[in-house]
Amino acid sequence: MIQVAINGYGTIGKRVADAVTAQPDMEVLGVAKTRPNYEAQTAIDRGYPLYAAIADRADQFAEAGMDIAGPVEELLEVADVVVDATPGGIGEQNKSLYVDHDVPAIYQGGEDAEVADVSFNARSNYEDAIGAEHVRVVSCNTTGLSRVIAPLSETYGIEKVRATLVRRGGDPGQTSRGPINDILPNPVTIPSHHGPDVNTIFPDIDIDTLGMKVPATQMHMHSLNVTLESTPDASEVRDLFADERRLFLIPESFDIDGSGKLKEYAHDVGRPRGDLWENCIWEESISVEGDDLYLFQGIHQESDVVPENVDAIRAITSTADKAESVQTTDDAIGVGF
Ligand code: NAD
Repeated sequence: MIQVAINGYGTIGKRVADAVTAQPDMEVLGVAKTRPNYEAQTAIDRGYPLYAAIADRADQFAEAGMDIAGPVEELLEVADVVVDATPGGIGEQNKSLYVDHDVPAIYQGGEDAEVADVSFNARSNYEDAIGAEHVRVVSCNTTGLSRVIAPLSETYGIEKVRATLVRRGGDPGQTSRGPINDILPNPVTIPSHHGPDVNTIFPDIDIDTLGMKVPATQMHMHSLNVTLESTPDASEVRDLFADERRLFLIPESFDIDGSGKLKEYAHDVGRPRGDLWENCIWEESISVEGDDLYLFQGIHQESDVVPENVDAIRAITSTADKAESVQTTDDAIGVGF
């Protein structure tokens, strides 16, 4: 069993912990947090040994009546791999801790690409991460774009990608985020940083992205235009995507008109936390005009990177090849509708 440490137990960390627990070949050795709160209590309730990420603050857990197993250094001493799920920029600060303990580390998309040897998306470049010491799972948006670009590029060739990313202002728990009643070009400069991030996975893809932020918390929405090198009809593209388990083609008959109903559907089918690990592509939006493919996809920012983290664990520990890892991950947590 691969012994996994998780440093940072927030939106991403808690989901990765549960996904690791569901796998047949790995287990959560412990999770580390900086301070006691409801998520720390949940970690204890779920049976995850809780470690103090900052030794000076260990007393705060005792004062809150929460038992801790020790400082994070003790966890790193015995872990086979650490998943850093701390806020953007903190992972880079933590890197020396992981190097000192000689433990391979997986970082998240809030870090600069330079933090790691490899930026990772399982569908697109799993092999590059095999045996690496430091791997960065790309952001929710880059994950969503990569999963579509990979099959299109392999099958038809891509001349140019243009994507407008309508981004949620914050996650449901991020009560301090906004906008509340506005629509922001964000970043206002064009192209946005998302395209260069896609280039950490696909160095040769020509891509421009534009970003906006809106008063929503549930999901991002991508409006995508891909100019292809050959010209399939829309039904061929639908068939291509239907073979990809991490792409969910929303059937027209479901009458799902937006993120709200998508999340409702996820809850109705019993998904943990209402998570949607797949890109959610509106099937009837898939259109081809000349060489140009168009579609809309919803991206559940809190969860699409979760199966990618699980695959990154197998790649970095060299314990499975791509096909085996992706299938095991998807079977274990139930990816695909
Ligand atoms: P979060 O704020 O929900 O959780 C981060 C956790 O790390 C919190 O529990 C915080 O207390 C803890 N923490 C802070 N400093 C720490 C330290 N020094 N050591 C250990 N723990 C520490 O953040 P998140 O949304 O889970 O984001 C984590 C990473 O994942 C970021 O890089 C982010 O960009 C990326 N990401 C987030 C989303 C998303 O939509 N939430 C999607 C994809 C990627």
